[in-house]
Amino acid sequence: MTETLPTVLVVAVALIDVDGRVLIAKRPEGKKLAGLWEFPGGKVEPGERPEAALIRELQEELGVTVSESCLAPFVFASHAYDSFHLLMPLYLCRRWDGVVTAREHDGLAWVKPDKLSDYPMPPADEPLVAWLRDLL
Ligand code: C5P
Repeated sequence: MTETLPTVLVVAVALIDVDGRVLIAKRPEGKKLAGLWEFPGGKVEPGERPEAALIRELQEELGVTVSESCLAPFVFASHAYDSFHLLMPLYLCRRWDGVVTAREHDGLAWVKPDKLSDYPMPPADEPLVAWLRDLL
């Protein structure tokens, strides 16, 4: 019998600046996958809408305010880790209020899509790089 892994829903965003660069953030020491670069976002709480979760996470992690109407859903990443299955929609966002600040990460980088593959990422995030490179 195949064991069914629990599904964890994480929302992530590609913030895109006026020069077409995408924001990635370095996972901090002490967290799983520390040192890898991810698209910002986080876990959706029980009963929370994904877009509301993303808006909350962007405020907490980066100190920016995003309006729901600016969030365009893009692709779903899906990856089976050892103990859970991650489902992660990636949104695109080109408008936000406030200055992007690393409140919970060890660093931030604005990166041209064709350079994203220079940054080591969690396995769930990696396929998103090719999609973004083709899109932007
Ligand atoms: O960020 P947080 O640790 O709450 O995310 C839960 C898990 O989801 C991580 O341990 C990681 O395995 C996965 N994750 C990911 N890519 C992201 C964010 C989270 O693979 N961008």
